Amino acid sequence: MPTEGQFAMMQLPYTQLGEAISANTLSFHHGKHLKAYVDNLNKALPGSPMEGKTLQEVVCMSEGGVLNNAGQVLNHTMYFEQFSNAPQAMSADFKARVEKDFGSVEAFRKEFEQKGATLFGSGWVWLSADAEGRLVISQLANADNPVRHGLCPLLTFDVWEHAYYLDYQNRRADYLAALWQVVDWSVVEGRL
Ligand code: MN
Repeated sequence: MPTEGQFAMMQLPYTQLGEAISANTLSFHHGKHLKAYVDNLNKALPGSPMEGKTLQEVVCMSEGGVLNNAGQVLNHTMYFEQFSNAPQAMSADFKARVEKDFGSVEAFRKEFEQKGATLFGSGWVWLSADAEGRLVISQLANADNPVRHGLCPLLTFDVWEHAYYLDYQNRRADYLAALWQVVDWSVVEGRL
């Protein structure tokens, strides 16, 4: 059944992601999990004050069940869109910003992976830009998104178990480390 309602499913431009994420995981993660969030959101909006708002507005103004589904639609859309089997490398300008705020690209990756690995329960690890343009890493639970905290989200790794369990079982750290192979930095940097 196609999704009906205000928000459409984003279409995956790939069916697998190298050795980082299998076709099986993507099929469930995109085709089942994301679809359920989109369907639930589309069912909840008609007749509510959030009908007709943008997805980001709904995420900022909602709570409870609507937030859970709207946040997960926004988070997954950003997650799937930032990956590629022919990813662009980090630009020199962005690399300079990472080095300024984290010391080195290696130190940034290490902190990002560590914050993803130690997030308790379900959630997402984020790289965002704050109001002063500083790059910050945050752990957010469940369906939360940095836009609710005055930040501009740039990059996110999903650490809900459904994102990695079919491929990695309990080895969340291995999943996080593998994702760098498929991050398209032109997409990440384009969110600034
Ligand atoms: Mn997910």
